[in-house]
Amino acid sequence: MASVLLRGEFPASVADTTTHKMKITKNELHSLLVEQLRDILWAEKHLVKALPKMAKAAVDPELQKAFSSHLEETKGHVDRLEKIFQHLDLAARAKKCPAMEGLLAEADEIKDDFKGSEALDAALIAAAQKVEHYEIATYGTMRAFAKRLGYTEVVELLSATLEEEGAADKKLTKIALGDCNDAAVA
Ligand code: ZN
Ligand code: FE
Ligand code: FE
Repeated sequence: MASVLLRGEFPASVADTTTHKMKITKNELHSLLVEQLRDILWAEKHLVKALPKMAKAAVDPELQKAFSSHLEETKGHVDRLEKIFQHLDLAARAKKCPAMEGLLAEADEIKDDFKGSEALDAALIAAAQKVEHYEIATYGTMRAFAKRLGYTEVVELLSATLEEEGAADKKLTKIALGDCNDAAVA
């Protein structure tokens, strides 16, 4: 009974919202995009505060560098979001993202739990990749919505950030496969 109801009202996935002819109106999709933008603005602003702590906690200089350079990129992500709000003629108002709050709380927890351990860097990478994957999911979804709405400049700004989030994630994998995880298993 419930599933019959839900099927008609909710998209099963992001792909469905962009490829199927749904009853969702442009206004609704616009509101959904704005909601997601406010959420990720909150998330990016809080990451700007969290990344220096992660860089400081990291043992491997390469991991420290990766966190520091992603901090600079993340400040740029905030700037791009502010530009997007300008494009949409909206105030850049952030809305609390409970998911990022939770991911950052977990990062803090794991950082304390593994303090002084050989596994600390691996733990920090695990936490950071969860953050990156959340961002990648959000930016990918927002870009699909913006494409569907025909917001060309917004699509470009979102693509630029999405690319940097992807590269940051890949860099973390590379560092993990280098020696971080090796040290943890040695
Ligand atoms: Zn970002
Ligand atoms: Fe969120
Ligand atoms: Fe990021």
